[in-house]
Amino acid sequence: MSDTIHRTMGQQSGRRSWAEPWKIKMVEPLRMTRPEDRAGALAEAGYNTFLLRSDDVYIDLLTDSGTNAMSDRQWAGMMLGDEAYAGSRNFYRLEEAIQTWYGYPFIVPTHQGRGAEHLISQAAIRKGQYVPGNMYFTTTRLHQELAGGIFVDVITDAAHDPANLSPFKGDVDIAKLENLVAEHGAASIAYVSLAGTVNMAGGQPVSMANVKALSAFCRGHGIKLFLDATRLVENAFFIQEREPGYADKPLAAIVREFCDYSDGAWMSAKKDALVNIGGWLAVRDRALFEELRNLVVVYEGLHTYGGLAGRDMEAMAIGIAESMQDDHMRARIGQVRYLAELLQDWGVPMVQPVGGHAIFLDARAFYPHLRQDQFPSQTLAAELYLDSGIRSMERGIVSAGRDPETGDHHYPKLELTRLTIPRRVYTQAHMDVVAESVKAVYDARAAARGLKMVYEPRYLRFFQARFEPLS
Ligand SMILES: *Cc1c(COP(=O)(O)O)cnc(C)c1O
Repeated sequence: MSDTIHRTMGQQSGRRSWAEPWKIKMVEPLRMTRPEDRAGALAEAGYNTFLLRSDDVYIDLLTDSGTNAMSDRQWAGMMLGDEAYAGSRNFYRLEEAIQTWYGYPFIVPTHQGRGAEHLISQAAIRKGQYVPGNMYFTTTRLHQELAGGIFVDVITDAAHDPANLSPFKGDVDIAKLENLVAEHGAASIAYVSLAGTVNMAGGQPVSMANVKALSAFCRGHGIKLFLDATRLVENAFFIQEREPGYADKPLAAIVREFCDYSDGAWMSAKKDALVNIGGWLAVRDRALFEELRNLVVVYEGLHTYGGLAGRDMEAMAIGIAESMQDDHMRARIGQVRYLAELLQDWGVPMVQPVGGHAIFLDARAFYPHLRQDQFPSQTLAAELYLDSGIRSMERGIVSAGRDPETGDHHYPKLELTRLTIPRRVYTQAHMDVVAESVKAVYDARAAARGLKMVYEPRYLRFFQARFEPLS
């Protein structure tokens, strides 16, 4: 596999480098931060990168959600917005794009991914039913639980091990699903919820063989299979690269085949689809569609806009087509790998293999002298910001929250700091600056003292918690 990676990177002798299949027409100036200002801004933000003002950030790697750069075609499309309340022409363009590229007949637009998760959960889950999935995602699981469902993690064990090098760590362990069905019966399963790639596992992909086997299993038991298609084009890139028989298939054909195994899908278009806002839900069953189309009017807006402006639907329709281009995805994932390879050469510890949208630094290995309740990942995010103005995100003990029974912290196995790469936004030179900053922080790792939490909100504490340095 590392052979393939080097081939993709164009770094083997005698090969040519790859480059982005676009050039830059408009630029957005960045604020060059100064060390003394960063120290003040970080203290004011309680050492939590979520509480920094974006004006105080130089390179922003907090998330890849809604942070995409749109193309000139998409911006031109914004001018073609038909802001009619009902029957906007942009809706029909979006509907056609989803039918063409993802292959589902019935489409409901939503304001973003969680809007779609809300509708499908309300329509397809009865109270007390199980919803097996390949690892949880925060908003997905919350909507399933709010609808009375019980989430069950059926992902392969390899996904929980940052050093495991399996090529498809997002796969469902079908034996786990079989056990669930054997124990409770197929009627107790609302549907199987399959995400490709798996965000919380580090952007790890699902294989075509797995979705095919899963689909056969589900059909055999009369269970529906729904996809979280948020990063499905990134997932298709890994299938093309790693799964026998797919090397010569275009990404668009792989995405279509993957979707063909499912009964429907939802998407946060803020990721793959290269827009700043938007989402959708699509199914094959007409009766379910009628119900979803009715529910969307209650929660999002009329079924031909779903909480979006006409111009946003137009940009999404164009972005979907752009996201399916092989050259685009090769450059997108190529950039993530470019950064990863620089860091690997310097021995910086991270989750392996590197996934599609981000690099997850292993803060436990960075700071072996810090106890987990001294917040190593939070410390690493703070140190990176202090060093260079780069914003990253904690994914460790702070994100994991507390056990509601005992009141103790959850102590997750993975203690990570995420560097998330927005699409088409930063250059390779920015990646060099990021790598050098991570290296500088790594070199100074022995001096890190850790943090103590001085304010803790009750829900989703990682967004708003405040810290102070330990002396
Ligand atoms: C971001 C995301 C969502 C939720 O989408 P929003 O647009 O943020 O509401 C759902 N699933 C996955 C895998 C995501 O990454």
